[in-house]
Amino acid sequence: PFYLVSMSAAALQLNRQLVRTMQAELINDHQARHDPLTGLLNRKTFDEQFIRFARLEAHAAAKLAPDCLHEELPQQWLAVVDIDHFKQVNDRYGHLFGDEVLILVANLLRSCFRTQDRVFRFGGEEFVILLRGVPLREAEQIFERFRSTIESHQFPQIGQVTVSLGFTSTRLCSPVEILGQSDQALYFAKQNGRNRVCHYESLQRSGALGRQLAHEDVELF
Ligand code: GH3
Ligand code: MG
Ligand code: MG
Repeated sequence: PFYLVSMSAAALQLNRQLVRTMQAELINDHQARHDPLTGLLNRKTFDEQFIRFARLEAHAAAKLAPDCLHEELPQQWLAVVDIDHFKQVNDRYGHLFGDEVLILVANLLRSCFRTQDRVFRFGGEEFVILLRGVPLREAEQIFERFRSTIESHQFPQIGQVTVSLGFTSTRLCSPVEILGQSDQALYFAKQNGRNRVCHYESLQRSGALGRQLAHEDVELF
């Protein structure tokens, strides 16, 4: 207090300006990293954080023995979540109600995942989750609990909304491949009834993805 009292008017003015500039910078930085509608981290932040993280993880994984990469051990998972039939929500109730659903889904995402996990709005009605430090069984349970939380939530006026989710391990592949795998699992969930959670490696092992591709080839040609 003594030093504040003894400050000259000019120094005080300078001090205030400095605080204002710092506040403005913090707000700018926050806005650049978050989605304005939902307040979740945005796509740009995902790109920056995930590419950096995936590089570190690939580096660490390269040094491990193969049995240290087993699914039963804690690791990180990347999930892509997409709201089912969201276009119908917009068409039936209007864009403002659609926005309200996005905000409510974002809030449920925040409450279903822990602070060490990361949730991003990827664009439109699509979200990405980075789930940290759990083995496969637990990851499946956590994602399934989230899916069922959405399914049983009463959305004002609209009633039930569901989501589909595809996920994969973030080890051993490049960021582009990891996103591609989660997308393939999500696509499988959409093709097979929606409102479900699909794990890429399990689909791969069971041959389900191969059959899906073969089926699409038949449809295409
Ligand atoms: P699916 O189950 O296959 O995912 O069907 P869908 O209708 O959810 O998928 P589709 O990709 O056909 O439609 C997505 C819709 O999301 C279309 C677009 O108008 C809407 N959308 C994207 N961003 C926003 C937004 O910020 N607000 C609102 N209200 N709607 C959005
Ligand atoms: Mg979509
Ligand atoms: Mg959708």
